[in-house]
Amino acid sequence: MPYIEAEKSEGLSSQGKILLATVKGDVHDIGKNIVAVVLQCNNYETIDLGVMVPAETILKTAIEENVDIIGLSGLITPSLDEMVHMAKEMQRLDYTLPLMIGGATTSKIHTAVKIAPQYNGASVHVLDASRAVGVANNLLQKEGRDAYIRQVKEEHEALRVRRASNQQARKLASMDQVRANRFRSEDSGYVPVKPSFLGIRQFDDYSLEEISHYIDWSPFFQAWELKGRYPAIFDHPEKGVHAHELYDDARAMLKKIIDEKWLQAQAVVGFFPANSVDHDDINVYTDDQRNTVQLKLHGIRQQMVKRETPNLCLSDYLQPESSGVADYIGAFIVTSGLGIEEKLAEFEADQDDYNSIMLKAIADRLAEAFTELMHQRTRREFWGYASNEKLTNEELIKEKYQGIRPAPGYPACPDHTEKALLWQLLEADQRSKVSLTESYAMYPAAAVSGFYFAHPDARYFGTGRVGQDQVEDYARRKDMPKAEVERWLAPVLAYEPDDS
Ligand code: SAH
Repeated sequence: MPYIEAEKSEGLSSQGKILLATVKGDVHDIGKNIVAVVLQCNNYETIDLGVMVPAETILKTAIEENVDIIGLSGLITPSLDEMVHMAKEMQRLDYTLPLMIGGATTSKIHTAVKIAPQYNGASVHVLDASRAVGVANNLLQKEGRDAYIRQVKEEHEALRVRRASNQQARKLASMDQVRANRFRSEDSGYVPVKPSFLGIRQFDDYSLEEISHYIDWSPFFQAWELKGRYPAIFDHPEKGVHAHELYDDARAMLKKIIDEKWLQAQAVVGFFPANSVDHDDINVYTDDQRNTVQLKLHGIRQQMVKRETPNLCLSDYLQPESSGVADYIGAFIVTSGLGIEEKLAEFEADQDDYNSIMLKAIADRLAEAFTELMHQRTRREFWGYASNEKLTNEELIKEKYQGIRPAPGYPACPDHTEKALLWQLLEADQRSKVSLTESYAMYPAAAVSGFYFAHPDARYFGTGRVGQDQVEDYARRKDMPKAEVERWLAPVLAYEPDDS
């Protein structure tokens, strides 16, 4: 800041004013904050409205502050729909300001197909923070600006045309066909193991020191927009030295986080009698008698035409109710972000963006590490189906173990609203300190939740695009209006590679 202020007083005028916000319902802002720093270092003035910002606030502030560009950020898929809403609002209210779109689930294809057609102004996808300055320059330069925007619009049109023909070419199978081609767990020879306890257990104030041993450092560098794998990244000719510096700073902060208890970790896990039912759903029973269904979880099945391999749905990894075989499912919510606000406020008061971003990035790493740790304890003791498992940290990161822990909102189960059932199942309103936003983002952001499946053949997969027939069927099974299901699923189901 002192350098930037000095430049300003030397008469170097600002390149432009950019409003940044993480959209309504979303709590993730590491990427956006890095973009803000990069823009500021390149002589842009930024106004950062923070996270969970409603469209009205963004639109109002853009006028009041007379900004040149609006930058929207989001990480979870419902945010894509919120960005479409923003574009519609800007059109309705006759805005002409350019829109920059960024964040993990955003893409050029989604921007071209869903956002840009709603708004006559420019909508440009920004792939990562390093591109933000180039895009902003292009959008604001006096000469060449119109040509740039025309070029972006032409590119979007070409993407839309290609998308439409691809989607026509790629046929989907019928629900009868894909259900007939399900993975048949009852034929796999696997005998389910009964967990060592049924019901819910809560772990408050878990040792951060213990958790820290399970950290996967590669995504830490991605969070800082340094692409490469740990530890090989240290040998990279250009990035190596910066990666090392970041890592050393992270290690030093991690030590303080542990020693001075900056953060607290909490986990809630549970194990329940369960069977698959009606092909794609899962009945969770109140007890092992299995006479009463506590709640039903809903699955989405891959609908692409397949010949060699099954059309997967997570329910396939449980034995069907009709088989009479007792099977089980686990569930978890973990966080390592409790108490983060206090330290963040200190850094922010000091305008210390670097340490603020660093703390969030480490808290995220601890949440994933805690997830790995609790998954290991699940396999070895809570569920106990792999009580003799002995894996190195590297093998854990490569997931060389039996079973998976899919998270609602991710490719195998893209419907975020299923988290409401996960919360119900774990009595999370009373037991967990993690809450859900209106878009089903978890707060604190450093949190992971999901289900445990023990089947040895269980793998992560993507559902890919599904047809209207499945959307209708899913809406009926879930007892949710079809329009609402479409709203939650549209961004994911339409834009994922079909054969992911
Ligand atoms: N070791 C990595 C894990 C990242 S994946 C890290 O430290 O960041 C984060 C979580 O997403 C996993 O723990 C799992 O719960 C979930 N997940 C990954 N792929 C998935 C898929 N295809 N479908 C559903 N959930 C998935």
